[in-house]
Amino acid sequence: MSVTIGIHPSVARIVPPERLESELSDAVPDAAIRVLDGGGDGGRDATVDPASVGDSLDVVASFGYEEWFLDAGLEWIHVVRAGHDEFPVDALRERGIALTNSSGIHGAPVGETVLGYMLQFAHGLHRYRTDQADREWNPRPWSESFTLEGERVCVVGLGTLGRGIARRADALGMSVAGVRRTPAPVDHVEERYSPENLREAVADARFVVLAVPLNPATEGLFGAEELAAMPEDAYLVNVARGPVADQSAVVDALRSESIAGAALDVTDPEPLPEDSPLWGMENVVVTPHASAADEAFPERVADIVGENARRLETGESLANQVV
Ligand code: NDP
Repeated sequence: MSVTIGIHPSVARIVPPERLESELSDAVPDAAIRVLDGGGDGGRDATVDPASVGDSLDVVASFGYEEWFLDAGLEWIHVVRAGHDEFPVDALRERGIALTNSSGIHGAPVGETVLGYMLQFAHGLHRYRTDQADREWNPRPWSESFTLEGERVCVVGLGTLGRGIARRADALGMSVAGVRRTPAPVDHVEERYSPENLREAVADARFVVLAVPLNPATEGLFGAEELAAMPEDAYLVNVARGPVADQSAVVDALRSESIAGAALDVTDPEPLPEDSPLWGMENVVVTPHASAADEAFPERVADIVGENARRLETGESLANQVV
């Protein structure tokens, strides 16, 4: 038996569907693979008319969730990103539909991007880029710059993302603390804190990086009290999900200068509304949920789907299975 895989047009948010189709064809040569019709021009916000799908699909690879996934006779849904917070895990479990995600492949791109945020704050590069747009030669006092070497970063969440960040921060000579639920040590992390000790963990960090999944336990995890626990010269970086931080508390902390700045790859909501005060703040860097971008992404997703298609046929348990 060979599997039939439908590629939902919403994957266009990160990868052209035809590129993923081509990579999947290499990874699973005997599968029947087709890009589902998004109607109209298709594209990243496309939805699919279930009547056009037929009843022959085993698997859907998708970025977004649609209600018809529950009733399409699917065996398995693959989410082409690590976060799966939009997917109704209980309903999927009830229907016996497996859910897998793309966790495990974002450590290098997100790790490098977080190093980029930290380096630009340390050396004021974001300010010089703004000056350049205004054609201004405006050297800042040397006392405003520092090196990452010897500074402390606290990474909240030590999974694929957190480890990718910790390894790179350690390589630059930073002192790395981390927060996770499990007590086991993690390479490149000197000190581990439990979530209950989050405020203590961030109290002497120059950078705090949020890298946890969004779920009921982590929604609003980083609020006014956690921000108040950070030193005044510290920076917040969020590469997790917008609602993991209380965004209005972040704005207040930035306005009152109780923290030095923030790099926000994820916001609440997304896209960040045009009238958000965050856009205009000199000490804030906003990136459009782009820290995991990597040209090798389609190939890496195809490897996970290909391996799981093989396991589906042999009856082995799936890799990266959430449900
Ligand atoms: P993993 O599942 O590999 O790791 C999650 C980590 O978070 C684990 O270390 C886990 O602890 C820890 N954790 C979970 N709950 C808590 C808590 N309440 N307090 C402290 N730590 C906690 O996930 P990834 O690293 O792959 O991804 C994490 C999230 O980042 C994703 O769910 C997604 O939302 C987001 N993401 C964002 C991207 C972007 O483009 N900005 C790209 C990829 C992911 P333990 O080790 O004890 O289990």
